[in-house]
Amino acid sequence: MDLAQGEAVLRGIKIAIANQKGGVGKTTTAINLSAALAQKGKKVLLADLDPQANSTISFIDNQETNLSIYDLLTDLNLTLDNLLKKTKMENLDIIPSRINLAKLERELIGELDAPFRLKDRLDPISKNYDVVVIDTPPTLGLITVNALVAATHLIIPIQSSYFALEGTDDLLETIERIKARPNPELEVLGVVVTLHDRRTTLSRDIYDQIYQVFGDKVFDTTISKSVRLEESPAYKESIFTFAPSSSGAIEYANLCEEVIRRAS
Ligand code: ATP
Ligand code: MG
Repeated sequence: MDLAQGEAVLRGIKIAIANQKGGVGKTTTAINLSAALAQKGKKVLLADLDPQANSTISFIDNQETNLSIYDLLTDLNLTLDNLLKKTKMENLDIIPSRINLAKLERELIGELDAPFRLKDRLDPISKNYDVVVIDTPPTLGLITVNALVAATHLIIPIQSSYFALEGTDDLLETIERIKARPNPELEVLGVVVTLHDRRTTLSRDIYDQIYQVFGDKVFDTTISKSVRLEESPAYKESIFTFAPSSSGAIEYANLCEEVIRRAS
């Protein structure tokens, strides 16, 4: 940590947001953490690695772009300059996704470098950014593997629900396999409990269960259920401009502080 500057320094870190369970808050975390970092003056690149393109359409009009991250990963002559889009937020750029990304696995069959495509494409430009945030789809297939090979850090959102921990064994096994060979540097930065309702006993029990598995990796900040968080993507805004005093804005700002502290 660069204490002399009084402000933690991040440079070139790449944070994948992953959990193969659907609807646990990966995209909501990716877009609002990216926005929180950008708002703090960090230069941020959000790479949308989900064919559903939810992160992309949360910030830009999908008509704006024909090329997507699929083209970057399959056409090695394409440069990122052709693909990067600025968002209306200062300091926040995005690599858009499109549904054609779903063809990636088929397209890369037999390619020896298939798991390394994203890493190889991001490495030359990630030094231009303080943080690259990678949103991933709800699978543990080649797309998510590309994200985990490219990333320096991983954030796992876990929904506060009765089945919260279902599937985490598979995720942890995948992380261990990635760390064993292609990416020993991958570090689980933390687990964020999402869609949390602090008032119910069930939610508190679930938090305790998650804590038993992940211990201090669980971020202190939990993300509450909030209609505002659900609404903001429809207006192509992060929670910080859409509802700056909402619980979601406060919680994602707190999460951002924890992320900076842990990653520095
Ligand atoms: P997928 O696996 O399909 O990519 P995901 O893990 O990215 O899903 P999100 O898209 O972030 O999950 O969230 C799923 C749904 O829940 C979305 O409609 C989103 O707006 C909503 N949601 C996410 N977090 C919250 C929250 N804290 N409060 C209320 N709604 C939320
Ligand atoms: Mg998503």
